[in-house]
Amino acid sequence: MKLVHKMTGLLVVSASAVLMGYGYLTVGREEAMLEQSVASDALLTARVMRRSFLKEYKSEGRDSAFKLMDYASASDEKVKFKILSLPEERSGETLHAPALDHAQIKSLEDGRQVLVISANPPLLQVYLPVVLPNEPPMALLLEESLLREREHVALSEVHVVIATMTLVLLMGTISFVVGSKIVGQPINLLTEKARRVGQGDLSGPLELSQSDEIGELAQAMNRMCEDLARETDRRLEALEQLRHAERLATVGQLASGIAHELGTPLNVVLGRAMMSAAATDNPDLVAENSQIIVEQTERMASIIRQLLDFARRGVTATAPADLRDIVRQLVELLKPLANEAHVRLGVDFSPSEAKALVNASQIEQALTNLVVNAIHAVPEGGEVHLRVEVAGACPPGELQVVTPHVRVTIEDEGGGISEEALPRLFEPFFTTKDVGRGTGLGLPIAHGIVDDHGGWIQVESELGRGSRFSVYLPQIEGATA
Ligand code: ADP
Repeated sequence: MKLVHKMTGLLVVSASAVLMGYGYLTVGREEAMLEQSVASDALLTARVMRRSFLKEYKSEGRDSAFKLMDYASASDEKVKFKILSLPEERSGETLHAPALDHAQIKSLEDGRQVLVISANPPLLQVYLPVVLPNEPPMALLLEESLLREREHVALSEVHVVIATMTLVLLMGTISFVVGSKIVGQPINLLTEKARRVGQGDLSGPLELSQSDEIGELAQAMNRMCEDLARETDRRLEALEQLRHAERLATVGQLASGIAHELGTPLNVVLGRAMMSAAATDNPDLVAENSQIIVEQTERMASIIRQLLDFARRGVTATAPADLRDIVRQLVELLKPLANEAHVRLGVDFSPSEAKALVNASQIEQALTNLVVNAIHAVPEGGEVHLRVEVAGACPPGELQVVTPHVRVTIEDEGGGISEEALPRLFEPFFTTKDVGRGTGLGLPIAHGIVDDHGGWIQVESELGRGSRFSVYLPQIEGATA
């Protein structure tokens, strides 16, 4: 519910409550005053009538006095007079309604007047004691209808309700219009601005002309955006410098790695060539040296090939492929190597298809590097297990949005990876293998290829128990291979 609606609703409800309460009290007071004034008039009239009745009784006799009362009653529609006998009232033989109760009769007998106001029908009754010799105790009754007064009060109530509703409607409309203008619209602009800031758009300062708290908030938001923009620029600059430094460090690392990797075989080649040059008369030694030179040269060529692979990154020619087919083919290719190392290759495929958009030969190369490492890590008689399945995962370091991925897991029962080696695995030329066996380029190449495919490699390892390399690639559904 919007703030303006809440404010208007609150105002309407509280204003209605206050105005209705005030109206109720005013009408109540008016009703009481009206009744009081009618009662005092009636009392006065009743007293005058009683005096006339007594006078007539004494001068003209009983019948004439009663006739006078009948005459007075007949001459006014609103007010009626009656002489009541109290013993009759007490015995319940009365014909007028409502009848007096015993306490009221007792009051009249004691010479006190009685006033009764009944609601239904609206009626005012004034009883005055009438005492005459040779007559039972009597009372003069003046009965006056309060219908007109009640109608007047009801009309007042209707006026109060109409006035309240008109006022509340007016206040509600004004509050809604003014609230929308000075609260609703600026808040909408602030919300929109906050949403844009959240999405990284710091442009377009808020132009609010108000000088109240909302205006101050808008100005604070504008200042915050300026600060953020400045800070972002500074960070980007720092990041760029950092990247530059990192690039330099990587180039240095690569250069020293290449120098080291190529330097050793080159030294061997140089040494053997010199030996051969000095021993032309010893054909066996020359032959042996030539063989070593060939081996070392092949090793250098292999390093250079891998370096070219590493340098020639970037996915070209992708197509939807089922990773189960790629892994099946890969296992066939690597079986001879595994057999030679006396390592079993186990596979486990999900029954449903596991398709991703890939350059099949590049992915095959990345997986080969991981499987070869696993074969190298496993002792004789051990097993390397491959599994292909579809799993929900979210890329590391990203917001927690889980999307379907194809996961290829390569699990081995080797010696595991030490804590020191774990963060360096993907560094070019990082190797723990003997000289000549490892180049330290297998994992960086695999990482580069998977990264180019929008995926990532997760490594879990425990010393003495083995390692698990999981390759995640975004899954595609419904494409035909
Ligand atoms: P290389 O295999 O030529 O050494 P890689 O980049 O492929 O280069 O691997 C780097 C290092 O990571 C390896 O030398 C090894 O120490 C470690 N490594 C990779 N895979 C495994 C594994 N499955 N088990 C144990 N260590 C591994």
